[in-house]
Amino acid sequence: MAEKYAIGIDIGGTTVKQAIISESGTIIDKWEIETNTANGGISIPDDIWASIEKKLEELAINKDFILGIGAGAPGFVEPSTGIVSIAVNIGWKDFDLKGQLEEKSGLPVLVDNDANIAALGENWLGSGNQADNLVAVTLGTGVGGGIISNKLILNGANGTAGEIGHFTVEPDGAPCNCGRRGCLETIASATGIARLASDVVASGCETILRNYLNDNGKVTSKDVFEAAEKDDQAAIELIEHVTDVLGLAIANTATVINPSKIVISGGVSLAGEQLLRPLRKAFDKHALPRISEACEFVIAELGNDAGVIGAAFLVKQAQQG
Ligand SMILES: [Zn+2]
Repeated sequence: MAEKYAIGIDIGGTTVKQAIISESGTIIDKWEIETNTANGGISIPDDIWASIEKKLEELAINKDFILGIGAGAPGFVEPSTGIVSIAVNIGWKDFDLKGQLEEKSGLPVLVDNDANIAALGENWLGSGNQADNLVAVTLGTGVGGGIISNKLILNGANGTAGEIGHFTVEPDGAPCNCGRRGCLETIASATGIARLASDVVASGCETILRNYLNDNGKVTSKDVFEAAEKDDQAAIELIEHVTDVLGLAIANTATVINPSKIVISGGVSLAGEQLLRPLRKAFDKHALPRISEACEFVIAELGNDAGVIGAAFLVKQAQQG
């Protein structure tokens, strides 16, 4: 019997990434279209299906060979209904993504949030290596989290499980996008690290981070790692602080599910060992030794493809029941 395919879609604020992926995990083709956020993003399902139809025609793949469509959306998503409760940077509110895509395509559609599909993607074809228990942490503009427990992604009562970026780590700390204060995201995201670096410069201490600010008008998370590599004490201490807070948060998460893998992705993860070394040290300090022993830290491998791969995996998983 000929192999069948799943379509994976990763919807972001500027582009919609799409891919046709075989059941065995080969990317047959991938492409992206612009996210049209006009009128509250109302035309996005039409745009998505039109581009899929065109692609299937180009590749001469009959729709009968498509098992379904998996889709990830940024924001709060209810996987049980496929409704996107809120996706601020797209303009969706209580948007029936599953219903609309099913109606247009006539195919089964599964929906989850972007951090969860990224976790599933890394676990299927990336550095998760099909772990039964895994924590995925994305350190980008924000901090995303996806938790796989006993092979299944954790969704919770309304799809909000695993949002570790919104752990309160500093009561009354800096304001977070969620409307509260002191979330992990305000410290361990690229944005959080940049904010802390500006504070360090403002404190008047001796640091080459000041040169980045003077030259470029800002200090980025990447600058902080670069300065630390040049033995800048303030930058080294900043990284120690960030990894200590993050390591504690991950250690507490790990105590809940006892993972064999922690996958770190996103822009900040490009620092590689410079991030992993102090993070692992902080984790070991804060975690139960038995939890620590069973657990390996790895950097994600799939980059921007993790989302479409994980979205396709939703379809594959549903097929397997
Ligand atoms: Zn928050």
